[in-house]
Amino acid sequence: MLFSKFYVPTLKETPAEAEVISHKLLLRAGMIRKLTSGIYTYMPLGLRAINKVANIVREEMNRAGAQEISMPMVQPADLWQESGRWDFYGKELLRLKDRHGRDYCLGPTHEEVITDLIRGEVRSYRQLPINLYQIQTKFRDEIRPRFGLMRGREFIMKDAYSFDKDDEGVNASYQAMYDAYTRVFTRLGLEFRAVSADSGAIGGSFSHEFMVLADTGEDTLAVCTSCSYAANLEKAETKAQPMCTTTCAAYEQVATPGKHTVEDVAGFLAVAMTQVMKTLLFDVDGKSVAVLLRGDREVNDVKLKNLLGATSVELATPEQVVAWTGAPVGFAGPVGLTVDAIYADHEIAAGTDFVCGANAADAHLIHVDPRRDITLSTDAAPTGYADLRSITLDDPCPACGGSLTMPKGIEVGHVFKLGTKYSKSMNATFLDENGKEQVIIMGCYGIGVSRVVAACIEQNNDANGMIFPPSIAPFEITILAMSTKDEKVMAKGREIHDWLESQGIDTLFDDRDERPGVKFNEADLLGSPMQIVIGGKGLEKGVLEVKNRKTGEKRELPVADWQNAVL
Ligand code: ATP
Ligand code: MG
Ligand code: MG
Ligand code: MG
Repeated sequence: MLFSKFYVPTLKETPAEAEVISHKLLLRAGMIRKLTSGIYTYMPLGLRAINKVANIVREEMNRAGAQEISMPMVQPADLWQESGRWDFYGKELLRLKDRHGRDYCLGPTHEEVITDLIRGEVRSYRQLPINLYQIQTKFRDEIRPRFGLMRGREFIMKDAYSFDKDDEGVNASYQAMYDAYTRVFTRLGLEFRAVSADSGAIGGSFSHEFMVLADTGEDTLAVCTSCSYAANLEKAETKAQPMCTTTCAAYEQVATPGKHTVEDVAGFLAVAMTQVMKTLLFDVDGKSVAVLLRGDREVNDVKLKNLLGATSVELATPEQVVAWTGAPVGFAGPVGLTVDAIYADHEIAAGTDFVCGANAADAHLIHVDPRRDITLSTDAAPTGYADLRSITLDDPCPACGGSLTMPKGIEVGHVFKLGTKYSKSMNATFLDENGKEQVIIMGCYGIGVSRVVAACIEQNNDANGMIFPPSIAPFEITILAMSTKDEKVMAKGREIHDWLESQGIDTLFDDRDERPGVKFNEADLLGSPMQIVIGGKGLEKGVLEVKNRKTGEKRELPVADWQNAVL
């Protein structure tokens, strides 16, 4: 590809809306452009990276015996009513009506559609197992789309679905997908962990998430330093603190107005929050841990409802709290966390209190004062805060008792053993060897193809730009011609470019009439793993310069045998 003909609208300045590095660089390198919240156009360079990921995913799916199909994106509501998810899925499901007033949704995932397909096709155990996948645009009306491709509303997912006749079969299908995922993320050159995970809204009995390790990840992992135990913290905490009754008892105790010890309230918060919160903030200094209800009101409402067994849960609004308590409140909701974390996350002014309650009428103000006791009261404004960092949660590595580290992770893939959750409610059955009707056993397996590109950039960048691993790089090699006036330089550049392309190596030849400085900067920004610099003086000496983008290492190569050196 000639740079002069390639559409790469790079930006000098970083747009203010971008918070994380991948979002900044994707915009600066002209790889994506925003249409509206959480919805992006993939530009030529961005699409190249996405397609590279998609192709590796496709190769490994095919290798594992899955077959590619493409399902409709618009899905009829009645299928979702059959599975029970029309009501359960909540606002992430974008619903629409056709001209006849019939209900539809945009597919956030395809269990219903594929179960409907298979129940119409499969009659006999002889037709099983089946594993079908697609690579397709999904729509989820995320409550907080952010971080560019990391959490979009419209995004590209690979989703596969397996259908088996028995447990042995589904275990084999699951393992084949687990292994394929391991190959995919290894080939993509990402540093990742497979962790055991909660199955969340999709449901099921067994699942692993594939996490790319990066500080900007939205998930907190628990990884044992002594054994192979690795989990999403949701799961780790659920194990350590299994019961809602514990929470409810703790809640009852602290929900009584009056003075309570830090430990009582913290205990409640710790248990409650570890169960209801997707994201926990752990401030680990020594053993100390604090917990935070953080995130989105609607989600938390639902989770709290489940947790407390309450019939209605309403988080107090700041206005309500001010009305009930007369206290200046900047954030309403059941909260327990380190004071530092509060400030960092919500920018709450000093003198703010927090509200905790199963419903509005029952909401309590949590007032933490410097003497380290906590009062649930309807009293006036508090005078200060205690630091809750002395709270400890009782979680030794659940597997071996060893100690846990808690890195951040970006969920790039997820494998679920669904069992009969969808096949049962949607009546997808087959006749077994004895002619007896049985319910098909399912698994589902997702990879966030567009998110992978963002996760890759989060893991591979420096002050100058992106550093792609060769497998994802839009161009594996960038050739920089130092002088477009020098016909020898241009001819050598074209020769190398054409030869590399003929070898199947994606190559960008910067043939633009630009200053060397501009070319160097943009080559670094766009992140090809290797750069070949051709200058007039070098050619006279009979050498080219090759730069490794990751290490910055430069070496001179004899022009005569550059092919060997590059390969
Ligand atoms: P998350 O926990 O990040 O919301 P999820 O668990 O809801 O993700 P799954 O239902 O497991 O997502 O979907 C399969 C994969 O699709 C995820 O592992 C992730 O890589 C990707 N994915 C999910 N939501 C998004 C999104 N909003 N933007 C980009 N990729 C996404
Ligand atoms: Mg989600
Ligand atoms: Mg998830
Ligand atoms: Mg998931």
